[in-house]
Amino acid sequence: MGRKKQMDTSTYFRPHTDCPNYGQVGPDNRIVGTGRYGKANTQLLRCKVCHRTFSARRATPLFGLKAGEGTFYDVVAYPAEGNGIRATARIK
Ligand SMILES: [Zn+2]
Repeated sequence: MGRKKQMDTSTYFRPHTDCPNYGQVGPDNRIVGTGRYGKANTQLLRCKVCHRTFSARRATPLFGLKAGEGTFYDVVAYPAEGNGIRATARIK
């Protein structure tokens, strides 16, 4: 909270399962912030692997609860590497 300068994207992971880097979190997740959009000023993220842009609301499996809107559940419903994601986030 309150830290708005350099965004930390290491806790995000991309929502598209067909990405070569899918499920990757942490410093090597190759996700960068790319601006904001909409009334809610939603953070936009970009995958540097496949160059797709996606909303941070779709991409925060661990800390996006306050974003709400049910997208959280869509993301965590993905079967891949749930344990790995949690372990990585804990280290951080
Ligand atoms: Zn990608």
